[in-house]
Amino acid sequence: TEIYATSVGENGNADSGFLFVFRDRTEEERIDAMKNEFVSIVSHELRTPLASVLGFIEILIHRELSREKQQKYLDTIFKEATRLSNLINDFLDLQRMESGRQIYHFAPVDIKELVNDVVDKWQDKQNHEIKVYSESAENWVRGDSDRLRQVIQNLLSNAIKYSPGAQEVDIRIRQVDGSVLIDIRDYGLGIPNEAKEYLFSKFYRVDNSDRRQIGGTGLGLAIVKEIVEGHNGMLTFQSEMGRGSTFTIALEPFEMVSLNGRIVIF
Ligand code: ADP
Repeated sequence: TEIYATSVGENGNADSGFLFVFRDRTEEERIDAMKNEFVSIVSHELRTPLASVLGFIEILIHRELSREKQQKYLDTIFKEATRLSNLINDFLDLQRMESGRQIYHFAPVDIKELVNDVVDKWQDKQNHEIKVYSESAENWVRGDSDRLRQVIQNLLSNAIKYSPGAQEVDIRIRQVDGSVLIDIRDYGLGIPNEAKEYLFSKFYRVDNSDRRQIGGTGLGLAIVKEIVEGHNGMLTFQSEMGRGSTFTIALEPFEMVSLNGRIVIF
């Protein structure tokens, strides 16, 4: 609880007034605890890959190694440094969004074209076949195309990452009751019931033995949620352990009407 009391001076000048601030101690303690947790998570997440990068560089400097060994260590350094860079980018994106400093550039976006574009870039890199279904040739939404791309990339990357044995990921685009819905469905590990309420929390990762080997930062879904909410949209999911998960985004459609030969956008 925070209570402010202000008074303005006789001539309406705020300088001569007073200001009281009462703050709830428990709230202050809660914020302190959050800051501490944040510092420990960030220092761990940043230090581990950095320590590994430094360790391998040291070996490369001081030891005579075969060409193959050198290549192997350089590959590891590249992988760890990429992870570090992604983590910092995700982290800064999320900070910007949470503090309300994210500026969205809304424009008409053909979400079907955007989804196909993301899928084309992924298709050859992994073992899953990604299928895109849509009833219409185009699906226009009101959105920021760079940020929506980030949403689709994060959800698709999770669908692939958390369905290691499965062959397929399905994306369906449909129009329902004045919304455009995008379902991203996998046939993978699923999400345990006890994890469901925390899934969109920053740094939260499911700690099950079935996915301990799968890398990640726990920031992806928090970013997706921020962006979808920044679009006045909705993000929901359904999941069953061992059968798979479906994440659904609902966005506002962009209506385009031709009036006297001119295109009018609502
Ligand atoms: P990350 O993947 O980096 O751990 P996310 O915020 O993207 O972080 O996801 C949080 C957690 O939710 C993951 O650790 C994972 O266990 C679970 N999760 C997310 N998407 C899926 C999915 N499609 N299937 C199963 N579990 C998922």
